Amino acid sequence: MIDYYNVIIIGGGAAGFFAAINIAEKHPHLKVSILERGSEGLQKVKISGGGRCNVTHAEFIPQELVKNYPRGEKELLGPFHQFMTGDTIEWFEKRGIPLKIEEDGRMFPETDSSKTIVDFFLNEAERLGVKVLYNQSVVGFEENETLWKISTKKDVFTCEKLIIATGSNPKIWNLLEQLGHTIVKPVPSLFTFNIKDKRIQDIPGVSVPHVQVKVLDSKLTSEGALLVTHWGLSAPAILKLSAFGALELAECNYQFKIEINFISIGYDECLTLLKNFKLTEAKKQVGKYSRFELPKRLWQNLVKASQISENKTWADLNLEQLEALATQLTKALFEVNGKSTFKEEFVTAGGVDLKEVNFKTFESKLHNHLYLAGEVLNIDAVTGGFNFQNCWTSAFILSKNI
Ligand SMILES: Cc1cc2nc3c(=O)[nH]c(=O)nc-3n(C[C@H](O)[C@H](O)[C@H](O)COP(=O)(O)OP(=O)(O)OC[C@H]3O[C@@H](n4cnc5c(N)ncnc54)[C@H](O)[C@@H]3O)c2cc1C
Repeated sequence: MIDYYNVIIIGGGAAGFFAAINIAEKHPHLKVSILERGSEGLQKVKISGGGRCNVTHAEFIPQELVKNYPRGEKELLGPFHQFMTGDTIEWFEKRGIPLKIEEDGRMFPETDSSKTIVDFFLNEAERLGVKVLYNQSVVGFEENETLWKISTKKDVFTCEKLIIATGSNPKIWNLLEQLGHTIVKPVPSLFTFNIKDKRIQDIPGVSVPHVQVKVLDSKLTSEGALLVTHWGLSAPAILKLSAFGALELAECNYQFKIEINFISIGYDECLTLLKNFKLTEAKKQVGKYSRFELPKRLWQNLVKASQISENKTWADLNLEQLEALATQLTKALFEVNGKSTFKEEFVTAGGVDLKEVNFKTFESKLHNHLYLAGEVLNIDAVTGGFNFQNCWTSAFILSKNI
């Protein structure tokens, strides 16, 4: 027997559930189903934001918000005028899930638990009569006159409107390719840099609130917080580079050099200040007191890397040593050798080519009644709640146009 629905959503993730709930709310008479290959849905929401779910980001100007999307910046501007962060906050609050803002702008449920979001989506879908079918791995879909025919490993379904919300699933991208869509080659985004270097090897956990980083032989630059990890470097300054450089860094197989300015002032200004310390702090040991508000252990490692031994005072330093220290502070070179997963959030760059999507409706330009939402599109963002915002925006807008 073939099961018929007005709307079928393939993929029970953030975008799939958000679409289903909004469609079912607006059109209670429609038969809506989610086909999910797993035995549970919303797996990424569950583990998102370290188990806290970074739902969105407190950035309320569309022109600023789009700057966080290395892929999708131009295309999301219009959609954000229809549904963006403020609407997300209101949407959740109206349904009894207040969000809170952290200092860096990330927004989480007040409960600090992704379970709040997962449970709400599951209960709300059930309350609204959405049929969520688990263990239904879709293996094919085709247009059949006015209906879509969808085959899973077990069953066959038909529907009038088909929504693809399968995230970065290669099989579904292949099926979309067979329908004529172009798939931009997927590569990972949001990763940390593997670096083996004496200056950071014994200080995991040390962080600097603001650094400037650039990738050598490229135009990639970023700034923000920096964290030393067991494997290398992480935190927004690095994650932003991994997102904006996702393609470029994949091409060089994650082997490249970066230059870090730990103190966000230029080399010349730094050297002048160091020369000043030589006069004003003459008798003090260089390594003993950290300068520029750098963590002491990092400061000591940079001093060591400048060939300045432990017991040297500022008065002992010659110009060459002062210059070496200024270099370590403002243009320290590090060799990156591979990447590691950033456990709080990661995404795939690549997906359905944005030229083939109508961003007023999130409908395919190639096929009527075929809609795309979330990470299946060639849209991804830096860390901070922006990736979910893409899911909410795309799913909300298509739900209005069903
Ligand atoms: C560890 C981690 C933490 C994250 N934390 C955050 C965060 O805090 N904030 C943020 O903004 N972003 C975060 N992200 C990114 C965010 O989770 C994704 O951008 C978002 O989940 C994408 O949603 P989606 O619905 O498009 O796809 P997904 O969440 O990937 O959902 C797709 C669904 O489709 C199903 N599916 C796939 N293929 C088939 C098929 N053939 N048949 C049937 N079903 C299928 C999958 O099983 C899955 O349930 C995180 C990502 C990870 C990995």
